[in-house]
Amino acid sequence: MKEVILVKYGEIVLKGLNRSFFNSKLESRVRRALKSVQGEFYFDYAQSTLCLTPSDDADVDLAYEKVKKVFGIATVCRGIACEKDMDDIAKHLAENVNELLGDAKTFKCEAKRSDKKFALKSPEICAFCGGIVLENRPDMKVDVMSPDRVITIEIRDRQAFIHGNGEKGAGGVPVGSSGRAMLMLSGGIDSPVAGHMIAKRGAAIDAVYFETPPYTGEAAAEKVRTLAEKLTEYCGEIYLHSISLTEIQETLVSTCKEKLFTLLLRRFMVRCASKLGEKYGAGCIITGESLGQVASQTMQSIAVTDAVATLPILRPCIGLDKDEIVVRAREIGTFETSILPYEDCCTVFTPKHPDTRPDMAEILEEEAKLDVDALVERAMATDHYERLG
Ligand code: ATP
Ligand code: MG
Repeated sequence: MKEVILVKYGEIVLKGLNRSFFNSKLESRVRRALKSVQGEFYFDYAQSTLCLTPSDDADVDLAYEKVKKVFGIATVCRGIACEKDMDDIAKHLAENVNELLGDAKTFKCEAKRSDKKFALKSPEICAFCGGIVLENRPDMKVDVMSPDRVITIEIRDRQAFIHGNGEKGAGGVPVGSSGRAMLMLSGGIDSPVAGHMIAKRGAAIDAVYFETPPYTGEAAAEKVRTLAEKLTEYCGEIYLHSISLTEIQETLVSTCKEKLFTLLLRRFMVRCASKLGEKYGAGCIITGESLGQVASQTMQSIAVTDAVATLPILRPCIGLDKDEIVVRAREIGTFETSILPYEDCCTVFTPKHPDTRPDMAEILEEEAKLDVDALVERAMATDHYERLG
């Protein structure tokens, strides 16, 4: 039996005149996902479905898992390739009927003919194939309204395919079709989820981690690296930048009001992330903030941090509860790493009573005591990056 992977495109099929741009982006993302998989895959696209035909030595299981993580795909399924001949279709259907039906009690057959010259029309193909299924599995019932299983027979230009229900793909639009974003990636639960959500909407991701050596150590940096690695399974390559905020933190501690430490620090983070984003072609910054979650995420605090951004800040988790973010973190596989207990630079200097309703005038008064531009410039000079994925 020759197995194929059928990839049904998601919302990009609606993109009108831009469709070919999205299609080629998606195809290149799928090719990229398969790069490390053993074997060759032949690509054949028709009727918003990409058919991947593997070489004999290909690792189809791994390919299937990789493709499931590519954004822009509505459903993925494994199918059986046959000759465009009803006898061959019948033979494969009979041989694989149990796998195709699984534990279903009812089924229906559906036919798709992209080859409009094929001798049988769709209803005839369905009737014929339904008959084959019933012959081999007399316990089955046909239910055309709400069957447990749909067996689809696709007649294409070169060959025919038989497949059962597909699995949900990663959804969204292909990475790279919505520009580039700079993700502020801490070691926490929220920011990897935020990065995943915006990558799903087509942004290619770069990430920045702010560290404070020696207060934060190599273990914390390694944790962020692991999170970024995990994100590359969905986003493709990520340039992970690290910037030291040690001088800034120490200056804040020795010069400014304690209750404003966190917010002043966040303003420095956003200044640096903006500069970095601009330098590397990002159109926005992403953070994992959620409204009201902590003192620095009240509406007033957000206004104070936004004021120094030179790029728009996207906060996709803003309306999610912590437990909703946790569900997503588990789904994408970042949760277990995020809960490892290493110090983050925010927690090292957290004030006992942070200001939840900061006053902009007071913030500016505190910053007037500092040489903000010089501090930012020296922090930016510590930037170093590595390419992941
Ligand atoms: P997370 O779970 O993502 O760490 P959090 O709930 O701990 O978020 P904060 O620590 O206030 O919240 O951080 C809010 C956002 O600011 C984070 O989601 C992240 O985008 C960014 N951020 C915080 N600390 C850092 C850091 N050390 N490096 C890079 N970005 C950071
Ligand atoms: Mg955090």
